[in-house]
Amino acid sequence: MEPISPVARIAEQGQAVDIRVADVTKVFAGSAALHDVNLTVRPGELLALLGPSGSGKTTLLRVIAGLAQADRGQVFFGGSDATRLPVQKRQVGFVFQHYALFKHMSVADNVAYGLKVRERANRPSKSEIQRRVSELLDLVQLSGFDNRFPAQLSGGQRQRVALARALAVEPRVLLLDEPFGALDAKVRKDLRAWLRDIHERTGKTTVFVTHDQDEALELADRVAVLNQGRLEQVGSPDDVQDHPATPFVMTFLGQAARFNAEIRDGRVLVNGKPAPVAAPKSTIGQASLYCRPWHLKPVPAGHGYHQGIVSGIRRLGSMRRIEVSQADGKKLEVEVALVTNLSVGEEIGLDILDGVIFRDG
Ligand code: ADP
Ligand code: MG
Repeated sequence: MEPISPVARIAEQGQAVDIRVADVTKVFAGSAALHDVNLTVRPGELLALLGPSGSGKTTLLRVIAGLAQADRGQVFFGGSDATRLPVQKRQVGFVFQHYALFKHMSVADNVAYGLKVRERANRPSKSEIQRRVSELLDLVQLSGFDNRFPAQLSGGQRQRVALARALAVEPRVLLLDEPFGALDAKVRKDLRAWLRDIHERTGKTTVFVTHDQDEALELADRVAVLNQGRLEQVGSPDDVQDHPATPFVMTFLGQAARFNAEIRDGRVLVNGKPAPVAAPKSTIGQASLYCRPWHLKPVPAGHGYHQGIVSGIRRLGSMRRIEVSQADGKKLEVEVALVTNLSVGEEIGLDILDGVIFRDG
């Protein structure tokens, strides 16, 4: 018989369940932190809950976990109503931004904690606990760190221990609240790839909270964008980037310049000229056209849809970004090839190559 790898065994521990949040509203002191939120996290999916600070991400995660009660609405795990289940009975694993490891316990004891405190009937044997701890340390690539203490670990290593500890109790779902938020940029990037890999191996339904667009887009199967307690869009990273549902999603996910536009006769007009952007069907009237830096192209002054002055040029990966200041003081960004003959102070025109149109009002 083939030996079962530790990783395969972890994946077998339980079928992934879906999480369904139905019409959840949560009010704090008269102001709603969550408005009628409806969200399904598919079985085995890694969903990023993305939004600016104060948009309700932590509140929604706490409602899912059972750490906070919704004022209205329900939460289902695997189709069964968990709304009234206390946190201890929901079988959720958590990792928070600020390391919550027990400082006086070794790495192995931290990971084993959730199993050791179980009541006797459900508690695995000592050797079984030991086996599982070493399996999990292996999974989070910390084999051999069993006897270290949290103070002897880097920030990234502590968060890896925190994840191993969350997984030790075989949770049905994993809830991660900005787990890399306190770490520096390079470590955060490394941990993204690492978490993606762990997720693929364990197959746990996971909700990952972040305010970092790049982190969400790189890591998640789907992204749920939260703004002022309302879900603006839920979709794949491609969906939310290529087909943003609202101006908020468009501007929150990256640089975008807004232009006044008009939708008339099935066309999008900018400064009275038709722009190469598909008009929404049977819509007319004032609209806003949002352009990413690569939707705009510098052309000689006097040509294009808008005029401006090059006010800055900087390197961005394999491209250059030029900052263009318009007469009304508005600044926008345009992406051009690395080798460019534009220079600061030059007057240019701007052509529109593409964009996303939203009807005003
Ligand atoms: P995020 O995690 O996206 O930064 P939160 O869920 O923490 O946002 O907060 C959403 C809103 O709810 C904020 O306006 C915040 O001030 C408010 N809020 C969160 N928790 C409480 C609380 N315990 N009491 C009062 N207001 C709260
Ligand atoms: Mg938060």
